[in-house]
Order: sequence, then structure tokens, then C-alpha cells
Amino acid sequence: MHFIGASAAPERLHGDALWLVFQGGRILVSEDPTLPLFPVLANVGWLGLEEQVRQYLGRLGDQPVFAIAVHEAASPPQGYRFDDLRRLLGQADDIQFALAGRAFQVLEWERNHRFCGRCGTPTVSHAQGERSRVCPACGFSSYPRINPCVIVAVTRGEEILLARAQRFTRPMFSTLAGFVEAGESAEETLHREVLEEVGVTVRDLRYFGSQSWPFPNNLMLGFHAEYESGELLLQEDEIAEAAFFRYDALPPIPPAGSIAHALIQDFVVRCRAGS
Ligand SMILES: [Zn+2]
Repeated sequence: MHFIGASAAPERLHGDALWLVFQGGRILVSEDPTLPLFPVLANVGWLGLEEQVRQYLGRLGDQPVFAIAVHEAASPPQGYRFDDLRRLLGQADDIQFALAGRAFQVLEWERNHRFCGRCGTPTVSHAQGERSRVCPACGFSSYPRINPCVIVAVTRGEEILLARAQRFTRPMFSTLAGFVEAGESAEETLHREVLEEVGVTVRDLRYFGSQSWPFPNNLMLGFHAEYESGELLLQEDEIAEAAFFRYDALPPIPPAGSIAHALIQDFVVRCRAGS
């Protein structure tokens, strides 16, 4: 089913809508596998949760989609639970995960922009329904902020460079990644990050694809690059371990649904086809 984003809600709802209900960073999901993962209802009030913020996201097929934030202390209604957004990876399909990520980011943006960052006045919603918080005193507008991040699969023939970051909570190895700094191109970020994190230079950058990553509001720009020169020298406060692994002897990697997984799989598939 196709999703079309919009910020101005329809004046009147006909039939059921899809509700992405958040309590902080956790989303309401059905415990019954025969029901839709997220509530589909004509009226979200039926869930009996105290609604604090509502944002319209757009339409999935002909179904309106809303993001709702509820009180931190609210208990889930019978048959539902609040689940960590990360746990949806592998459990939800790509569209569901993307919608949940979009909902989370829009709700967080609204929560974090209640006051003007320039003059401190309480902000209001945009008069024509654009997704911005507007300051009635100085006119400053705040839009949902997205942080671009470069993620790169560095390869050397049939080997791929994977690293275990200090911040990883499980024993897995992933591709290198880093935030784009103000004034940098994505390519400049890539060269800087690879050199900083593992001490090597790369060449032949090839754009792979991108993914919205709602932890908390990144846009991951995926690349492949070929190793050029240098010995592995790890940035110890960030990288616990890094090595080149042959495509048929990989360590545990990130779950399906992440662009890191897709980058690694793309490399493996190309190696298999070539051998
Ligand atoms: Zn202001």
C-alpha cells in the first residue's frame, strides 16, 4: 500500500483511521497477531487513553494516519502493549516501521518546540496547516529537524570492514557511520569518519540508498567505498573492535530492516555472484 504524506488533516473523518500512539519512545501495538499491528479505529477515544498531542501524517491507501502522544503514566488498553520502537525492526514491515518512525519524529519535534528558540515565546501551529511551529512574537518558524548521517560499507576485494561500536548493547558488527557536520558534503563526511574511526583512506565512493532512522531523527545516507590505504587504527572511545571479514564468514550483523543490513547483504550478494 502506498503512503502519501500531508500535514493538514481532513476536516471530517469517514470510516477508520490508523493510529500511531506513542508514550515517550514506545508505541502501542496489538498483542493479537490476527489484528492489525497498530490500532485501526474510527475514534481513538475508544482506547481510553488521555491524548496530549495529535499530528496528522497523511494517507496509507485511503486510510488517514494520525500520530498521538499519550500521558507517560497511561496503562495500555486490554489486548495492547507499549513496545520500544527499536523492537519493531524485524517485527513490522518496512511501511509500518517507516510510519512509526515518522510519527515518533513528528511528535518529538512538537514536544521540543513548544517555545521559540530565538525569543522564548510559546509557539503556535502554522495557520495554513504547514508542519511548522511558528512564533507569534518574532515570526521564527521551526520545522521537524532531520540529521543527515553517512553510513558506509568499506570493502577490500571479498572482504568488508565491520566494526563493533562501544555504544552497541549487543555483540554485533556493523558498517561505519557518522553525522554530517555543518558545511560538509556527504562525501567529505565519509572520508573524515572512516579516517577518524579506523585510520584508513578509501576511494571509489558509490551511493547506495537512504533510510529514515528515527533514533532519534537521522537520515542515513548509505555508500559503498573501496579500501585504498592504511593500517587499521581504532578510535578507542568509539570503536571497540574492527576488522575486515570475508563475505562468507561474517560476524553477527544488524537486523534486517536497517540500511546497515541492506549494505552488507548487497556486498555479499555481489561477491556470491562473482565467485
Ligand atoms: Zn520568537
